[in-house]
Amino acid sequence: MSARILIVDDQPASIKVLEAKLTNEYYEVLTAKDGSSALDMVDRAAPDLVLLDVMMPGMDGFEVCRRIKENPQTTHIPVVMITALDSREDRIRGLESGADDFLTKPVDDTTLFARVRSLVRLKQMLEQWRMREATSVRLGFMGGGDVGMDSGTGADVVLIDDSTVQKEAIIEALAGDGDRVTVIDDYDASGRIVDHGGDVVVISLSTDSDAPLRLASRLRSLEPTRQTPVLLIGDKEDQALFIKALELGVNDYITRPIDELELLARIRTQVRRKRYQDRLHENFLQHLSMALTDSLTGLHNRHYLSSHLGAVMERMRGSGKPVSLLMIDLDHFKQVNDTYGHSVGDEVLKEIGQRILRNVRGFDLAARYGGEEFIVVMPDTPVEVALGVADRLCEKMATDPMDVSVSRERIRVTLSIGVAVSRGTDTTGESLLEEADKALYEAKRLGRNRVVPEPPKAAKMAVEAAPD
Ligand code: GH3
Ligand code: MG
Ligand code: MG
Repeated sequence: MSARILIVDDQPASIKVLEAKLTNEYYEVLTAKDGSSALDMVDRAAPDLVLLDVMMPGMDGFEVCRRIKENPQTTHIPVVMITALDSREDRIRGLESGADDFLTKPVDDTTLFARVRSLVRLKQMLEQWRMREATSVRLGFMGGGDVGMDSGTGADVVLIDDSTVQKEAIIEALAGDGDRVTVIDDYDASGRIVDHGGDVVVISLSTDSDAPLRLASRLRSLEPTRQTPVLLIGDKEDQALFIKALELGVNDYITRPIDELELLARIRTQVRRKRYQDRLHENFLQHLSMALTDSLTGLHNRHYLSSHLGAVMERMRGSGKPVSLLMIDLDHFKQVNDTYGHSVGDEVLKEIGQRILRNVRGFDLAARYGGEEFIVVMPDTPVEVALGVADRLCEKMATDPMDVSVSRERIRVTLSIGVAVSRGTDTTGESLLEEADKALYEAKRLGRNRVVPEPPKAAKMAVEAAPD
């Protein structure tokens, strides 16, 4: 997996060392030697990861990190801070300024590469979601309001741990910071974790068996927990295992003796990312459904109808079953607008949408086809049944005036409905719509407030072919 990595360090020698290591692994490397040119480069060159020196003259690494993470355009870019000394204060300050990890110079290659791979993988996945978000913005589904990261507090933490001593301390630290903790003391309990959900899973490597790692790997393969952050707790000697875990998709680890502040900071980082990703995902699903829904009536829109109708015809053709289609148009709707105003007209359209929905079956598809035109697609439905539904709709509409909230009067509107049914194998979605349109035209011509079926082709041809 190739990626673009930005190295920020005021010491040319330090840059050289890291640059050589990374280019050796085929990463594309960019460099910056101070904070402000680093920020500039993050904006312009969109790196997949930033390796950031802490101590720099002018703007230090903490400040650079904070700014990257504060900017909604760059908040998803992982930042690994690198420091000369292993100072606890620096580490915690770095994590609190939003860094995804903290490494000490000289940087151990295996650890570095495992981290880089794991963070780049995540970043590139977030990138996919961000692209969809950008598409939604382009399509006008949102006002460009950027999704940012939250604080990551108040998390639902699942702790898998079978040692009693340490467990209490962890629970206390998390609960003290506002998290809810659920403890499970069984490493085979992936099912329970799935049932519970949660923002982050913390697995303590407290047995000699490989059960904890098996659990982590299982959580990665199960759909509901695939994106749930997993953090391991282990000992310094577990380093090789940590590296393996990162490759398996574990997101982070922390070593004993556990520094509570560091644990909290690392959990926050994971929870922030998880929530960010969830929000992008929810937005996507919402925009997807908006793209296929008519915003006024909540029915499917024309775009959805077109692709769905094709699929229905295809499926029904295979089974030899008829598909009926109603094309429904409001009579003299322009007068409703002219008399009561456009917003009353809108209310009427909404109510009609609801009435149509109430009168069709669950597997029929109702869509708003145009301004005051609706379509109902009825799979596996002979024309007599479709005519029955259309008659019922028409009659109810004519005899039951509607209460519209924005108007004090009860408004009576009538419908004209054209009905068409598929015949044999050569009816397509388009031809079915055409036939229904013709029938609708006929209903209007005959005086409106009525249902007209499209006459069978054979009968029409017989009339056309008849001698004068
Ligand atoms: P006909 O019986 O021949 O169908 O007459 P009509 O007045 O219903 O048909 P026409 O096509 O002349 O006018 C349709 C009207 O529907 C005109 C337009 O203002 C109105 N319309 C279309 N979309 C909307 C909408 O979203 N809201 C409102 N309030 N009115 C709409
Ligand atoms: Mg009309
Ligand atoms: Mg019309």
